[in-house]
Amino acid sequence: MEDCIFCKIINGIVPSNKIFEDDLVFAFRDIHPVAPAHILIIPKKHYPNLEAIDATDQPLLSHLLHAVNLIARQECLDKNGYRIAINCGPWGGQVVQHLHMHLLGGRKLADELG
Ligand code: AMP
Repeated sequence: MEDCIFCKIINGIVPSNKIFEDDLVFAFRDIHPVAPAHILIIPKKHYPNLEAIDATDQPLLSHLLHAVNLIARQECLDKNGYRIAINCGPWGGQVVQHLHMHLLGGRKLADELG
C-alpha cells in the first residue's frame, strides 16, 4: 500500500535495520525499542491489522510464527525466552496500520502486559 510506512520499509523506500527476510515475511529492529531486543515481524502483503486476516490466511500466520522461531534463535533469545505482542486497533494500542508482531526479549519482562 503506497502510503504505508511498513510497505515502504519492505520495498526499501524507507531504510530499516533488517534482520530477516523470506518470500512472505520481513523483520527489522523497532526504531524505539522498549527492550534490548525489540524486533518487528511483518507480512510482506499489506493487512491493516489482525482483524483483516481470514481463514484463507492461516498458512501465512503459521509462517509468521515459524519466522519468530528462526529469528529468536538467530538473535539468541530462544534460551531465556521472549514475548510476542500484536496490537490491534485503537484500544489495543496499534499505531502503524500494517499487521506486525513485536518480538521482545533480552531482559526479564514485566508480568503485566498492559
Ligand atoms: P504499534 O503500536 O503496535 O502499531 O507499533 C508500531 C511500532 O512501529 C512502534 O513500536 C514504533 O516504534 C515502530 N516504528 C514506527 N516506525 C518505524 C520505523 N520507521 N522503523 C522501525 N520501527 C518503526
